[in-house]
Amino acid sequence: MPSLPTHVVAAIPIAAWLGRPGASKRLWLAAAVCAVLPEADVVGFSFGIEYGDLLGHRGLTHSLFFAALLSGLVTAAWFRAGCGPLSARRIWLFLFLVTASHGLLDALTSGGLGVAFFAPFIEKRHFFPVRPIVVSPFSLGRFLSGRGVQVVASEALWVWLPAVLLTVLAVWYQAKRRSRGSHSTIPTNR
Ligand SMILES: [Zn+2]
Repeated sequence: MPSLPTHVVAAIPIAAWLGRPGASKRLWLAAAVCAVLPEADVVGFSFGIEYGDLLGHRGLTHSLFFAALLSGLVTAAWFRAGCGPLSARRIWLFLFLVTASHGLLDALTSGGLGVAFFAPFIEKRHFFPVRPIVVSPFSLGRFLSGRGVQVVASEALWVWLPAVLLTVLAVWYQAKRRSRGSHSTIPTNR
């Protein structure tokens, strides 16, 4: 996995492209939880669940099915009436993309097993053909060793930097669309 804060960073350009970077704190909190929750499957190791099992690490909780389910539950529980200018459907889409981004980032890492994107229907694990992100160790001790520096440098280059660029691009694009919209509403007759 990339480190947990990096999974949260991936939510920022998604919010920007959906047009609401200034969404409420409650929604941001929900998005942050959705971004990292798939990683909770590591508790399975303590119960003897194997890495490659359906409920193992990068299994069901990293699937698109789980992303759809989790975003549906969170939307139904806390955002049924929408949130500010965002409709419940838009919030579901945002939380789905944020949750799904967790597995997509994991599939770009250099270690572990692949991601079961299509579980529970297809259990096959997948990686992308290119995997530039150095995998983060599970233990904090190993992360704080020299390995952590490698992980942070790789995430900065391959996740944080693209996230900043995509966010800036989205903000620029939205502003351009808004200004085009306001020009088109200027009355042409006196
Ligand atoms: Zn993960």
